[in-house]
Amino acid sequence: MKTLVLSANHRDTAAIAAQIIRSSGLVAIPTETVYGLGANGLSDSAVAKIFIAKGRPQDNPLILHVADAGDIEKFCHSIPSAAYKLAEAFWPGPLTMVLPARDSVPKCTTAGLSTVAVRCPDNALTREIIRLSGVPIAAPSANISGKPSTTTAQHVLHDHDGKIDAIVDGGPCRVGVESTIVDLTEERPRLLRPGGITPEQLREILGDLVVDKAVTSQISKDEVVKAPGMKYRHYAPQSEIIIISGSREKAAAYIRRHISPEDRVLCFEEELALYENCRPLAYGRESQVDTLSAGLFAALRELDDPSVSRVYARCPEGGGVAYAVQNRLKKAAAFHIVDAEVAL
Ligand code: AMP
Ligand code: MG
Repeated sequence: MKTLVLSANHRDTAAIAAQIIRSSGLVAIPTETVYGLGANGLSDSAVAKIFIAKGRPQDNPLILHVADAGDIEKFCHSIPSAAYKLAEAFWPGPLTMVLPARDSVPKCTTAGLSTVAVRCPDNALTREIIRLSGVPIAAPSANISGKPSTTTAQHVLHDHDGKIDAIVDGGPCRVGVESTIVDLTEERPRLLRPGGITPEQLREILGDLVVDKAVTSQISKDEVVKAPGMKYRHYAPQSEIIIISGSREKAAAYIRRHISPEDRVLCFEEELALYENCRPLAYGRESQVDTLSAGLFAALRELDDPSVSRVYARCPEGGGVAYAVQNRLKKAAAFHIVDAEVAL
């Protein structure tokens, strides 16, 4: 199959992409978070193609992307007032809500759960594609399962050239990490995955928020978790990743003591000078956390090279969007963290 690359600037792009979705094909779509691998979310056979292309485990459900907040009533029931408040505050935007699913949503999309994840992305072209398709678009991140997510059309081509119908090239993604997921099906709202909408922003609207243990710790494959995707190894290049915490100087001293020629350093731009001759790769500025979220996956992809044996990584501290960056990096590192303040 020849994979079409459709430019966001071409006036027919939305119509062509929507036609492919309507005829049960696969189209990679740009969003503000990461590129998604999209298909008709109401068609079992179309959605099945996503799982095959990604090599995604069957028990990992997909997010349904809608063009307008009002559309959630078509796919969800028993919607609490909190959902409307969150949609009002953050949609279109990087927030996914888990709600009770209507029977119209196929089991393939929900992986057999009674709930469905819904989101309205902050990308006008992608919302236009959804509108013209006439169906919600089910779309997980467009990477091959387990690999770092795709934040450019080139990343998607690298993983899927010749295997999907089209890619809509909307340039690099602004946020760069996947959406925040909040579950609204229990008594208390629960954060299942941190992202561009921060826990602080959610608490301001909801008052209350439980953080799921899958956010803060390594989950084993056999554990029952609310967001099935959280138990799989994720976001990771082939090499081992170790997060080195502590002050800039202590971390650099530790890394310089331990580094081998085939290892790499993933650090902040402010730290590059500390790693001369260590082949450092900066993924953004520590003082501007949004550059770290925007640059993380592209950097992890660059490090996804069999010649790299270990990556020593620096991780931002604190809340806000840094919380999402920490979550992705810690998962990529399988929660392997060394404190340079005390380690020899
Ligand atoms: P991705 O699109 O690759 O970012 O993956 C979607 C994420 O949403 C995965 O972690 C899924 O487990 C999670 N997800 C999707 N649907 C649901 C649902 N109904 N309940 C809980 N988590 C969900
Ligand atoms: Mg993913």
